[in-house]
Amino acid sequence: MSVKELDSTYVAHTYKRFPLEIVSGKGSLVYDETGKEYIDLGSGIAVTSFGVADEIWQQAVIDQIGKVQHMSNLYYTAPCAKLAEMLCQKTGMKKVFFSNSGAESNECAIKVARKYAAETHGPDCFTIVTLKNSFHGRTLTTLSATGQEHYHELFQPLTPGFAHVTAGDVDELKALSEKIKIAGILIECVQGEGGVVPLSREYVQAVAALCKEKDIVFMVDEVQTGNGRTGQLYAYMNYGVQPDVVSTAKGLAGGLPLGATLLGEKVQNVLGYGDHGSTFGGNPVSCAAALSVLSRIDDTLLAEVREKSAYLFNTFRDAPGIESVSGLGLMIGLKTKKPAGEVVAACMKKGVLCLTAKDKVRLLPALNIPMETLQKAAEIIKAVCAEE
Ligand SMILES: *Cc1c(COP(=O)(O)O)cnc(C)c1O
Repeated sequence: MSVKELDSTYVAHTYKRFPLEIVSGKGSLVYDETGKEYIDLGSGIAVTSFGVADEIWQQAVIDQIGKVQHMSNLYYTAPCAKLAEMLCQKTGMKKVFFSNSGAESNECAIKVARKYAAETHGPDCFTIVTLKNSFHGRTLTTLSATGQEHYHELFQPLTPGFAHVTAGDVDELKALSEKIKIAGILIECVQGEGGVVPLSREYVQAVAALCKEKDIVFMVDEVQTGNGRTGQLYAYMNYGVQPDVVSTAKGLAGGLPLGATLLGEKVQNVLGYGDHGSTFGGNPVSCAAALSVLSRIDDTLLAEVREKSAYLFNTFRDAPGIESVSGLGLMIGLKTKKPAGEVVAACMKKGVLCLTAKDKVRLLPALNIPMETLQKAAEIIKAVCAEE
């Protein structure tokens, strides 16, 4: 059987795959089984921060694999400790819990908010408020956090104690906070799966202010927006706020599984011995990869991300067949005249891999994609959108 046949015979049908097998790559170029080249503007959904098989990243991984590939969390390992230090130094947060995915990093955030609220405000303070159109993961609790009904339908009953409010509506949130006790508020500064929709500065600052006023745990889901994606190390840094909890994953280790929940001053000591854990969390190879990734996301790289972002906004704004451009940094959504799925399929034929998010074409290129490669891909997307 071919890989495609094996896969559809033996792998659960949870992913509607494109008819494309990727066998190798280098940076922002990837190759299928026939050797055809594609410019990758998806980065494994914002995961391969420095592209595929990047040499510096590879070396960091190989060096650590040659020392120790896994140890239980009963012992100390250097990559885990050093990565926690680096994350805290770069964000002002105080402690880190490591896991393996975005959903788990949010799960930890929710547990922290629940425990803090119960201990500080009593057992009836447990509700976690998230936004409509949000996405926070696929475990039952992070599904409950996700503010999109269609993800909920088949999996009732979900974890209780979640409420969803309209993004951008400060009055609705304030009214809810008068009615019920809120333990935590969890937001994405740019809703990724929801269609690459950035929140306004005013709204994010109002959420932060309300959390401060009512001692609500202010949590930002940086699973997709984090690690340089939006032109700052974390997206909240574009908004002039300081969260109590930051959850991240995807691009953190540049292509290996790693989740991190960053805990600020207020909640740094909420989790005690035995309150939470993960066998693979803080894996030394993943942490060594993340140390390499994070140490390269410096001011120069972030300035380049913002420059490439401006180039994409300028290229697509007012282009024929493109109705609007949204996003922040190298997280771009295109509302196209043609259905997004059609645009993505046509681009693939022409050697450019794009994603969709809701009704948008979504672009998440590697942070270090060469400008010429990005320009070549953007011209192809433009041509596809302009075709009648
Ligand atoms: C992808 C994503 C998640 C889930 O991450 P997994 O690693 O798939 O569990 C959670 N939140 C946001 C904002 C995401 O984009």
